[in-house]
Amino acid sequence: MRMSKMYFKTYHDDPADAVIPSHKLMLRAGMIRQQASGVYSFMQPGWRAVRKVEQIVREEMDRTGAQEIHMSAVIPAELWQETGRWNEYGPELWRIKDRHGRDFCLGPTHEECFTDVARNDLTSYKQLPVNLYQIQTKYRDEDRPRFGLLRSREFIMKDAYSFDVDQEGLDKSYMDMYHAYEKVFKRCGLDCRPVEADTGAIGGSNSHEFSALSEVGESDLFYCDKCGMAATDERCACVDAKAQDDVEMLPLEKKETPGTKTIEAVCDYLHLDKKQTIKALLFVTYDEATLKENGYVAAFVRGDRDVNMIKLVNALNIPEFCIAFADEEKMGPATGCVGGFTGPMGLHDCTIVVDSELPGLKNLCAGACEKDHHYINVNYGRDYKGDIVTDIKMMKEGDPCPVCGAPVKHTKGIEVGQVFKLGTKYSESMGAYYLDQKQEKHPIVMGCYGIGVTRTVAAVVEQHHDEKGIVWPVSVAPYHVMITVIKPSDEKQMEVALHIQDELEKQGVEVLVDDRDERAGVKFNDADLLGYPVMITVGGKASDGIVEYKLRRDEDHMEEISADEAVKRAADLVAAERFGC
Ligand code: ATP
Ligand code: MG
Repeated sequence: MRMSKMYFKTYHDDPADAVIPSHKLMLRAGMIRQQASGVYSFMQPGWRAVRKVEQIVREEMDRTGAQEIHMSAVIPAELWQETGRWNEYGPELWRIKDRHGRDFCLGPTHEECFTDVARNDLTSYKQLPVNLYQIQTKYRDEDRPRFGLLRSREFIMKDAYSFDVDQEGLDKSYMDMYHAYEKVFKRCGLDCRPVEADTGAIGGSNSHEFSALSEVGESDLFYCDKCGMAATDERCACVDAKAQDDVEMLPLEKKETPGTKTIEAVCDYLHLDKKQTIKALLFVTYDEATLKENGYVAAFVRGDRDVNMIKLVNALNIPEFCIAFADEEKMGPATGCVGGFTGPMGLHDCTIVVDSELPGLKNLCAGACEKDHHYINVNYGRDYKGDIVTDIKMMKEGDPCPVCGAPVKHTKGIEVGQVFKLGTKYSESMGAYYLDQKQEKHPIVMGCYGIGVTRTVAAVVEQHHDEKGIVWPVSVAPYHVMITVIKPSDEKQMEVALHIQDELEKQGVEVLVDDRDERAGVKFNDADLLGYPVMITVGGKASDGIVEYKLRRDEDHMEEISADEAVKRAADLVAAERFGC
């Protein structure tokens, strides 16, 4: 392809509303264009990268024996009502009506649709196991679409669904997908880590998230170098502080603590360590169908801890969108809480959730539910009780590993894929049964497996860029080679460039020739920004058949070599790396 004839546009300056590198660079390189908040169109280079990732995903899925189909994104409400997810999924579900007023949604994920296929078509043990997948546009009306393709409202996902006769079959299907995912992300050039994960709105028992390590990632990952434990923050069980069984309970005492609305302030005032206090967090909950307020929650953790929201909603058995921080002015009269002075004693008409380590700790300080007052020597059982007592705390770097006790490490990741063991959740609620050899009926045992294709493209850019632009790995680069012609009006230069292009294209190498009538500096800047792996410059020495050759990832090593040598080197590099390193 010759750039003088190509539709494309690059931008010199960072777009105002983009804050992370992949979003900035993909906009500047003309890969994507925002159409609405969280809704993007793909321009030529962007779409080529998406198709590269799709193809890698397709090849690795096919290799496992999974079969590609394509379902509609428009899903009748009835299917989602059958499993209860029409309400449970909440405002993220993009609901639409047809002209007759019938309800539909634009699919955010397709468990119901694939289970519907299974219940109609997969009725005998002889047809199982089967794994069906699609690569399709998904819709989620995200609360806060952000970071370009990382969290958009329309995105491309590969979703696969496995159907097995029993748990053993599911375990195998799950591991097949797990290993296929490892290959997919390696081929895409991603430094990716599989970690144990929460099952969220999809449900089921086991799950792993595949996270591309990145500072801009929204997943908090904890891992242990000693035993290999790796999990997301919401899944990582925290080890409770050692119970103080041998410490005597002291008499409860109310103290005046004027103006001490924070843990820090009360600790200063009473000369306490944060670990000797109880922190209160107040929430309002909503009905999942009507989104009307339906209750209050007070959550309590040790003063130096934070609450993990996913652990909390799991403890309450409500979806994530059904909880928010409470307006204390409103909650006060209803429950007895007092902003900045709330403790577990004196509350009424709200669900009290107590973190699992608090019952073991003695003589703590907590708000007295009275302005400017705290209690000291507060003890679980004697002075307060929880409606729910479970681990709701957030893990921190250095906390003990739940498996071996060594200090854990923390890192951030971009969730590029997730695998779930669904079991019979969907097959039982939707009636997907098979008959065994004895003609006995059993629910099909299912798994589901997602990869965010467009998010993966952004994650690749996130891990592969420098201050000048993108540095594509060969396997997902929109083009493999950029030939910059310094003076396109020079016949010899064009002849050499087109010869190199021709020879490379014969070998399946994807080449862009920058033959635009622009200053060399403009062309070099664009070449850096677009970031194609091999950079060949054809200039003054073209008459001697000599060109400049370098790799985008190693720009300091420029060599002057013959055009034929450049062809050979580029072709060899692409052959070696096009299927991933
Ligand atoms: P997240 O926790 O980031 O919201 P999720 O766990 O809800 O994601 P899944 O239901 O597991 O997502 O979807 C499968 C894959 O689809 C994810 O691993 C991710 O790569 C991708 N994905 C999910 N939501 C989005 C989004 N809003 N934009 C882009 N990709 C997404
Ligand atoms: Mg997920």
